[in-house]
Amino acid sequence: MESREKEFKVDKFKNFSEWYLKVLEKAEIIDDRYDIKGFYVHMPWAMFVLDKLYSIWEKGLEKKNHQKISLPILIPEDLFKKEKEHVKGFNPEIFWVTEAGDNKLERRLGLRPTSETAFHKMYSLWIRSYKDLPMRCYQSCSVFRYETKMTKPLIRLREFMWIEAHTAHPSKESALNQIKEDTEITKKVYEYLGIPFMFFKRPEWDKFSGADFSVAADSILPDGKRFQLPSTHYLSQEFAKAFDVTFEDENEEKKHVYLTSYGPPISRTFAAMISIFGDNKGLRLPFNLAPIQVVIVPIPKEGEKENILKYCNKIKEKLSNYRVKIDESEVTPGEKFNLWELKGVPIRIEVGSREMNNNELTVARRDKSDRTKLKLEEIEKIKEMGEELSENLKKEAKEWFAEKIDYAENLDELKKKIKNGFVKIPFCSRDKEGESCAERIKEIGEIAGTLYPEEEKPKGKRCPLCGKEAKVYVYACRSY
Ligand SMILES: [Zn+2]
Repeated sequence: MESREKEFKVDKFKNFSEWYLKVLEKAEIIDDRYDIKGFYVHMPWAMFVLDKLYSIWEKGLEKKNHQKISLPILIPEDLFKKEKEHVKGFNPEIFWVTEAGDNKLERRLGLRPTSETAFHKMYSLWIRSYKDLPMRCYQSCSVFRYETKMTKPLIRLREFMWIEAHTAHPSKESALNQIKEDTEITKKVYEYLGIPFMFFKRPEWDKFSGADFSVAADSILPDGKRFQLPSTHYLSQEFAKAFDVTFEDENEEKKHVYLTSYGPPISRTFAAMISIFGDNKGLRLPFNLAPIQVVIVPIPKEGEKENILKYCNKIKEKLSNYRVKIDESEVTPGEKFNLWELKGVPIRIEVGSREMNNNELTVARRDKSDRTKLKLEEIEKIKEMGEELSENLKKEAKEWFAEKIDYAENLDELKKKIKNGFVKIPFCSRDKEGESCAERIKEIGEIAGTLYPEEEKPKGKRCPLCGKEAKVYVYACRSY
């Protein structure tokens, strides 16, 4: 994995797209040479972080009483067709398996683009009584969608990693409460990771196929485009009727359940971390998520190598609670610094003869340009420094995001400001009748939705597109 050159010189804010692809290549996150469009190879550095993200989210779900299951990757066509709106929305994106060996299959099998249908099939068998409810199951898996737009690793791809959590409830109230709980999980995870976002209720014309309404967390990437993170869908009873998911209530009356689904995106969360935290030297990873948290770089003078390495190992032993690497490779210290900065290692320790003779270490934090001297007995301060780095990444991201939200009341202003990020505008309606106004700004962007929970309604404002009285504030943006 050392075969590709490490040089790295692109400005993140001037040319985000090129910066992003360079980081993925040079930091050995993704190898895009597998040669099926939209399918990528995730390298060890990526898989370490992705596994961590899975585990953070799974813990969040399990705390809220979700149970893990695993469903088949294939969904038979007849099952998929049971909910009409759903199949209409997803049909163009499904990969179909039609043959096995020399045999043509009797029915087409789709590679799951999402698993509502598979979950609901099983829920129709598992749920009998109100005592079984709420039922909350999730799976951690890849899903497959035939993206026709330009693909980009971790951002827009044909196979991506996510979690899907599906719940069944005895009442509308219980299902709506689940939507709230899902947004709380999202909030907790992103506050922990430091990824800034806003919740939007999607407009009627942009909700999930088959849902009553959808709530999504959107962030922004450095090019000012909206980046959708997890979404939660209130599916009401449509799927329950299509799949005959029923239960007997306390009075032995048979009723349809109310369903929700929630999709934490693992690939996209990593993409947001890379894009928002990274700088022109490469990745910057939070202390708890970095595959290597501390790298020790020996800088021996002639004849000192053995003793310096001994001292490096002594340091490593004292840091046995952390993921530490001593870089003994045969390149210059400068090249080592560049490589580990590129890969986003939070803490670097430099060890030369002065450090060795004085029982000291020279420590550099990935997000700062100065260095600190520590006595060997103060080595536990490394933990503090790592945590300070994580907090600083969060703070920088939060401040940056705050500048990405603006306000406009007319089309000219909107056109100018939308290049920067979200623009709040008064708008005629988030229901079907607002769609034609959304169509009219298609050239410059789209409508992310209304804030969730709701903010105050506009008073005496007009929709800048149709001139009608504005019923809501919506947020317009350019989008991935
Ligand atoms: Zn309008």
